[in-house]
Amino acid sequence: MGSGQVTDWQGKNVTVAGLGVSGIPAAKVLHGLGAKVTVVNDGDDARARAQAEELEALGISVRLGDGATLPEGTELIVTAPGWKPDKPLFAAAHEAGVPVWGDVELAWRLRGPEAAPWLAVTGTNGKTTTVQMLASILNAAGLRTAAVGNIGVSLLDAVLGEEQYDVLAVELSSYQLHWAPSLRAHSAAVLNIAPDHLDWHGSMEAYARDKGRIYEGNRVACVYNVADKATEDLVREADVEEGCRAIGFTLGTPGPSQLGVVEGILVDRAFVENRQKNAQELAEVSDINPPAPHNIANALAAAALARAYGVPPKAVRDGLRAFTPDAHRIAHVADLDGVAFVDDSKATNTHAAEASLAAYESIVWIAGGLAKGAVFEELVAKSAKRLRAAVLIGADRGLIREALARHAPEVPVVDLDRTDTGAMLAAVREAKRLARPGDTVLLAPACASMDMFTNYNQRGDVFAEAVRELGAGA
Ligand code: ADP
Repeated sequence: MGSGQVTDWQGKNVTVAGLGVSGIPAAKVLHGLGAKVTVVNDGDDARARAQAEELEALGISVRLGDGATLPEGTELIVTAPGWKPDKPLFAAAHEAGVPVWGDVELAWRLRGPEAAPWLAVTGTNGKTTTVQMLASILNAAGLRTAAVGNIGVSLLDAVLGEEQYDVLAVELSSYQLHWAPSLRAHSAAVLNIAPDHLDWHGSMEAYARDKGRIYEGNRVACVYNVADKATEDLVREADVEEGCRAIGFTLGTPGPSQLGVVEGILVDRAFVENRQKNAQELAEVSDINPPAPHNIANALAAAALARAYGVPPKAVRDGLRAFTPDAHRIAHVADLDGVAFVDDSKATNTHAAEASLAAYESIVWIAGGLAKGAVFEELVAKSAKRLRAAVLIGADRGLIREALARHAPEVPVVDLDRTDTGAMLAAVREAKRLARPGDTVLLAPACASMDMFTNYNQRGDVFAEAVRELGAGA
């Protein structure tokens, strides 16, 4: 199991770690290739048993309730990306010289020699949006493509399925990158790096290092965020192919080898003849939906990757125009008495909420939920001048209330002191009462949702429902 393609899987002893969205398909694919597959799983509940039964019927062995012991004779582990690197299973593998691959590494190794190249995207926030914008642009250029990876279509399906692709737009999480040592993208972008998932990675340095792996071996372009120096540092540290270029994106006027914005126009000064003097117009800011600053950054990153692949300027514009964001990402729900209600339930961490708050001038902010160890000082200090008022809900709302008291004492705060699902209607009512015409009521919780809701989707849906009720005179 060296660094090259594995062509003969017959009789290879492979341990798949984790039943789940990546483990089950991986086990089936490897079994189909002739490998001797054992799945190990920590849990032993009814669901796991049903899944185990299904796999065992195919001839795959499954060990439930023991994800720590390395099965005898294992030659390779294929792990679910979420498994923490400090698990005893991996220490045992290391000791025995057994390589560990994640789902992305497996897909990468199983690609055929003529397989479509990958344009890869990672970052703390904006990955899904950017990958979808990129796929839309590639589509507009007439290329056969799909948005794959940590989103929609699984990478294994994309690599092994019937469908033929020219190029793939691949979203990668930091976990997936951790377990993908031999991945070599055509070009890749790191959108931004803010503290997140540090309990998994162990430290900010380790988190950044895993994100930086996306640049390793890039052939054409490493795309970085000019406003986030950590992303540029990662480019500098990466070992890339001869001739691969560092390409920056910026919301300001672009320098040579950058994409940026000049008077409402997205401009390319990287993929043009004589970039010292020339610039190419790609699209207008108004072609981006919604044209919030962080979304313009996402569009520039997507454009940079597409241009690195040789896509013409017109396709960038057409692709951006054709793009519509997924639900709960700065979604405009309704206007009531001159007040806009916007659902950014997907803003589940402070970095995302900060971007969201930066998109509006005068805001009644609905926030709170599970903080996951976050601190809110910087977010509140940076956003204070835009806040008309704040309405707080959820388990960790006290942390946000304290940050508001310290950094924005003049901003009125309503602490609803509730964690039931119905609190959202009360929050929307309070927000409406506090808002003036021209304001935006923004749900950008800066927190996870699981204290009050099933997930961020439900939180956004309940918010939208509450706005509709209010509009109907509830
Ligand atoms: P991801 O796939 O990385 O979670 P999404 O595209 O789903 O990213 O966006 C998640 C949330 O992050 C959005 O709702 C928005 O609040 C915020 N966001 C999106 N793009 C950016 C960006 N470039 N910088 C900061 N925050 C962003």
